[in-house]
Amino acid sequence: MERSKKVVFVSHCLLNQNTRSVGKSSYPGTVRELISMLSEAGIGIIQLPCPEIEFNSGLHRKNQVKKLSSSYKNACKKLSSNILKQIETYMAKKYKVIGIIGVELSNTCGVHQIKSGNRSVPGKGVLIQELEEQMHKKNYQVPIIGIDLNNVYSSVEKIHQLLKYY
Ligand code: SF4
Repeated sequence: MERSKKVVFVSHCLLNQNTRSVGKSSYPGTVRELISMLSEAGIGIIQLPCPEIEFNSGLHRKNQVKKLSSSYKNACKKLSSNILKQIETYMAKKYKVIGIIGVELSNTCGVHQIKSGNRSVPGKGVLIQELEEQMHKKNYQVPIIGIDLNNVYSSVEKIHQLLKYY
């Protein structure tokens, strides 16, 4: 079987909703519409680490928005640089890195929308912002798209459209 040589990087919880804060999972396991669509398109899926469970409030955290500490931000910075090394490994061998898929309304993985108290406000999560800034410094940019878990179908459709260019 030929390799598709196409990969996408996705936020951890899109493949494993068990890492969402307690009571906030939208699916029991994977976000199936997204994963089915990527799988049918023959795209390899690379799961990003979940900074919340590794460096913040852990697996059984409550759903609360709290100020992110500087040590958490530093941890995200280090993670970003490791993620970029992985991306570059694929690009160096002429694989197509189709994009990075984050999660809207997360203060770590949000692409256009984050939380401020109970409100949604425009902004980027700390991990996504680091990834963008570090790619910018290295003079390349992989598209970053956010999945809105309150409107999965329209988010998946956007990604489907993006795939037409690859
Ligand atoms: S930090 Fe990112 S990967 Fe972890 S649960 Fe939140 S949105 Fe998902």
